[in-house]
Parts: sequence; structure tokens; C-alpha cells
Amino acid sequence: MAPPDIRIFNTMQQTKVPLVPLNPGKLGIYVCGPTVYSWVHIGNARTFTSFDTIVRYLRFRGFEVRYVRNYTDVDDKIIKAANEAKEDPIALAAHFIREFEADTKALHLLPPDVSPKVSDTIPEIVAIIEKLIARGAAYAAGGDVYFEVRKYPGYLKLSKKNLDDLVSGAGERELVLDSKKDPMDFALWKAAKPGEPSWDSPWGKGRPGWHIECSAMSAKYLGETFDLHGGGLDLIFPHHENEIAQSEAASGKTLCNCWMHGGFLDLEGAKMSKSLGNVVRLRDALQQVDAEALRFFFLTTHYRQALSFSDKQLADAETRMEYFYETLRKVDERVEGKDFGQGALHGDPERFLRELDEAMADDFNFPGALGALSGLFNELNQLTDKPPVKDKAMVGRTLLALRDIAKKASLALGLFEDKPSDWLLRRRDRQVARLGIDVAKVDAGIAARQEARVAKNFQEADRIRAELKAMRVEIMDTPAGTSWKVLSELPTT
Ligand SMILES: [Zn+2]
Repeated sequence: MAPPDIRIFNTMQQTKVPLVPLNPGKLGIYVCGPTVYSWVHIGNARTFTSFDTIVRYLRFRGFEVRYVRNYTDVDDKIIKAANEAKEDPIALAAHFIREFEADTKALHLLPPDVSPKVSDTIPEIVAIIEKLIARGAAYAAGGDVYFEVRKYPGYLKLSKKNLDDLVSGAGERELVLDSKKDPMDFALWKAAKPGEPSWDSPWGKGRPGWHIECSAMSAKYLGETFDLHGGGLDLIFPHHENEIAQSEAASGKTLCNCWMHGGFLDLEGAKMSKSLGNVVRLRDALQQVDAEALRFFFLTTHYRQALSFSDKQLADAETRMEYFYETLRKVDERVEGKDFGQGALHGDPERFLRELDEAMADDFNFPGALGALSGLFNELNQLTDKPPVKDKAMVGRTLLALRDIAKKASLALGLFEDKPSDWLLRRRDRQVARLGIDVAKVDAGIAARQEARVAKNFQEADRIRAELKAMRVEIMDTPAGTSWKVLSELPTT
């Protein structure tokens, strides 16, 4: 059966459109990356996880994806932070790029194919500004260069805003003209000020404005027209609107075929942003919860919808991941290294992969894909615990087929990359620390119970089991010996 056609919600058209690659089998995607003046927070981490999952799925579907995500390492906020810390702005940015890379690696985000920096793209930025001036879309004033928004007829086509409304709704500060012709004209190049990084240009020493970098970088690494452009919802205006104006006025071509925007992350009701100060750093969240559990939590909501973050949601996500990994561990124990021969399977294992594919093809419906996973794991559990058929070889073959599908699903979603026993032990360590469980006492209890069992004192063995349970410790007797786990802090939903 042919795989389902992929349809994506395009912000430009406000509707789902079929994905038609510019070059068959290939896709170019540009995602606006972080401004590196501080640690990455979980709101940004959610956006980058969404696009990471989208890229993984597109590759799973066989596309050769070129994924570009930039670093804004020259910016007002970086200069301000560097001046406050009495540091060089480029060095401060380089430091936070390293921190960003460490944190996103911990979250199992794939590194993009290209991660350009503003400070490495100055010649391309200057070239595109020169082109805009030559085409009459931009003008130099003093040492600054501005984009003249009224000269570009397509301005605001993405956000569907109205230029005159923007002017009449603007605050006094935004209406200060300085050397601009129109209050809505925006800076492509800013004249050097003391204490700021600057580069030579035809307009004197200066640095780029914020928006021009993405126009220069996307053209450099993906061409003047490419397939997909992503970012957070807050970037639609002015950032993406300005990117479109700059790129399209310079090239005369459509910048990209499809605009994708990720929803906000709410911190129990309040939008999280660095400027409001109510932020949770990704690094702190990863101290508290497993990385895949955080990914799983992000995927519980469609990428375009708002997602509410709370400690309870995180704990629930980790409990859910425990269920998945516990299932995989149990299935591995049952089937690993065994040969169940050739023959018929029970049911239709492939259907879970088709369900996942259909959900993801429909504008990357993450919760739908997780629903398919739930069905898959339900089936794995049922076949392991209460197989509905007597034919053991058929059950074994079906378990192997389902296990294989779980592996394919993990490629498409970036989950279950760990060895189940490793993941479960790490989870146990975190719970032990969180609940203050005395491990020496647990080990002593298990040893005493073993002695009681050898002495056939089953009453004493049961008493010890109950005593451990009161400490939230559940013991499990397996062919390999007695192991233990911490009882979930929350009921599995
Ligand atoms: Zn951008």
C-alpha cells in the first residue's frame, strides 16, 4: 500500500497543503534558531523538538532532508548581556552556543546539517543589502540601512496585518523616525556604536539588523527558494514578515513553499519567555526528568497548539515512558535470541505503523502518533501476558514483528533510543533520590527474604515483601534472580 500523502498547515495560506518537494525526494528546511545570550529554556526546547521530530519523520519517509538552523550570535540582547557581564559579546555567544549544544544533545535532538552563525555570514549579509539598495527596496541613511516597507507590495502577507493599522497602533517609541522614511521601515544594517562588535561595510563600520541574517543564511545554504520554513508562533511578525520582504525583494522569487509555526509553551497558564522572567531552563528540567520523557511530554500536544507545562505533567510523562520501557524489557526477555520459525502472524502488526504514518502525514499529528504507539504497546503487553492464541511460535513471531515496528516508530519520533534495562535503572535512581529510599535497607530486606524463602518460612518472606512495599519498593522474582523497582508515584493513565 502506498504511504499516505503528507499535508502541512501553511501559515501563509492558513490551510493544510500537500507537501510537494521542489526537487523530487529532497527537502530543504530552515528553522530560526536561538539568540544565544542565555541558557535555552523549555519553551524554545519544545519548538526545536517539534522540528527535530518533523525532520526525523520526513527522513523516515525517505526524503533526503537538509536541515538548517542558525545561531543569532550578533544581537542587541547579546550585547547588553555581555556589557553587563563585562565580556566580549562574540565570546559570550560562543559560550552559550556550547551550552545550547550540550543541552539539546541531552534532549536527543539531532544536530542540524548546517548551523550557521551571523558572525560567519557577514559578507553574504552585506551582499544582499547591496542588492536591496540597488533594486530600490532599501536606502542608506547615515551609517544605517533600512528596508523601505512601502516599496514592497507583499509586506505583511504572512501575518495578514495592515501597515496603516500598525502605524496607528504603534507606541510613541516605535514612531520615532530617526533617519527612517517611515516608522515601519526596519534596519538591515546598524552603524557601529562604542562597545559593540562591528564589521566594515560600504556604509561604514556596523553590524546587521536581526532579520537580514536569516535571509542571507537560508539563501546561502538552501537557495533562494526552498521547501519549508519553521519557527515559533511569535516569529511570524515582525521576523518572518521581514525575512520574506528582504528575500523576495532581493531575488524576485518566493522565499519558501510552506511556513510552519510552533505553538507556545505555557508555564501553568502564563506564557513563558525570557523577558518575563518566568522561565524553566532546559538543563534544570533535565535534572528533574528523563530526556525522552520530556520529549514524550512535548509530543502529547500538536506542535501548533499551546502546551501547558507543570511538574505533574512531567512526572506523568516519565511514568508513561516507564510503562513503555518496562514493556520492551519484558518482550526482549521473552523473544531475544529465539527462533520462532517462519509462518503466519497473529493479527496485523503493521497496522500500528500505518496508523502512526497516517497521523504524522496529517500535519504531523504528534498526539495521533502517540495514540498508535499506545495501541502497539497494548498489543505487546497482551501477547506477552495473556496471549489470545495457543500457538507459541506464532505469538513469538508476532512479538518480534511488533518489536520491530516499535523500533521503526522510535526512528520516526526519537523515542526509545535507550536500552530498556539502562533506562529503567536510571529511572529507579532518580526515584530513589527523589523519595529518599534507603537502598542498603532494600538490599538487606531482599537478602533476608531470600533466606526466609530458602528456609521455607513463607510467612516471613511475605512480611518482608510487605515491609518493602511500604517503602514503595516492589520486588520481582525473575529467572535471573530477584530485582526491584520503585512503585510509580502517580497512577499510570
Ligand atoms: Zn529567522
